[in-house]
Amino acid sequence: MFFYPPPLIKYELNTMLKIREGELVHLIDRKGKRYQIVLKAGSSFSFTRGTVSHDDIIGLEEGSMIRSSLGEKLLVVRPTLAEFISKMRKGSQIIYPKDIAAILMLADIFPGAKVLEAGTGSGALTMGLLRAVGMAGEVVSYERREEFLEIARKNIETFFDKVESGDREGSGKLVLKEKDIYEGIEEKELDRIILDLSEPWRVLKHVEESLRNGGILLCYNPTVLQIYKLSRRLELKYERSFRVMGIYEVGLREWEIKGRSMRPELRMIAHTGFIFVARKCSACEQENKLLTQINAD
Ligand code: SAH
Repeated sequence: MFFYPPPLIKYELNTMLKIREGELVHLIDRKGKRYQIVLKAGSSFSFTRGTVSHDDIIGLEEGSMIRSSLGEKLLVVRPTLAEFISKMRKGSQIIYPKDIAAILMLADIFPGAKVLEAGTGSGALTMGLLRAVGMAGEVVSYERREEFLEIARKNIETFFDKVESGDREGSGKLVLKEKDIYEGIEEKELDRIILDLSEPWRVLKHVEESLRNGGILLCYNPTVLQIYKLSRRLELKYERSFRVMGIYEVGLREWEIKGRSMRPELRMIAHTGFIFVARKCSACEQENKLLTQINAD
């Protein structure tokens, strides 16, 4: 079938549209300092280098430059997800964007996937997952602390309502649950399970029941002792249900380019966490037959 004009999804449409009232934007000065504002007609934003009226920003194209009352030039953009995450309110520790990027690829999060994650924390990973599963996908997220769940809910709503597509079209369905995942998983036939909590081995029994065969379990932990305990438990108790695919660590080093100085930044985020990936498998058919035979004999 041929469509003309080609159908546009809401997100594409939004990124082409002019900046509207109610949107959250970043103003970036010439030194790279960012100011985050939510646009409201009639309001103004003041900083050390002057004032900018929101009305002057509303209606501009993304990527425009504006001048403050004291002549400072500011770039107007919608923040990227990584930029939004670095500025948003945090209750818990978060997964950094460099690790979220790797997690989405290593867990092979695809459009239409049904993904379960725990804990929700501040919602940083949740937002990455929601984007990656797309409109046909679903993310279920467990968090046992009510106050964190509220912070995450606000962050997610702000990002999808004020930065992304206005009405969350383009991202997946989200179910937030105040629940302790050590006590069990209600969902079945999940494509992916992502665990960012301190004792992932306590969830293996539930993962075994809820992850479909061929599904991926990804655990994110800061210390190698946790990874060691997890892999030992898999090896000793769940050897027939899981195959370890790999253990990874991501280092991202930023560079500075200032005139003739071109070198790595002096400071970097060094260690954050290890990424552990395993794949769910069914028991071997031949072995099953053999066992049934032995039992019958
Ligand atoms: N991935 C999150 C950060 C998670 S921090 C982000 O990117 O923002 C770890 C979270 O796991 C904490 O909020 C903690 O309350 C939660 N948690 C720990 N054990 C849990 C359990 N058994 N069930 C549900 N949530 C749990």
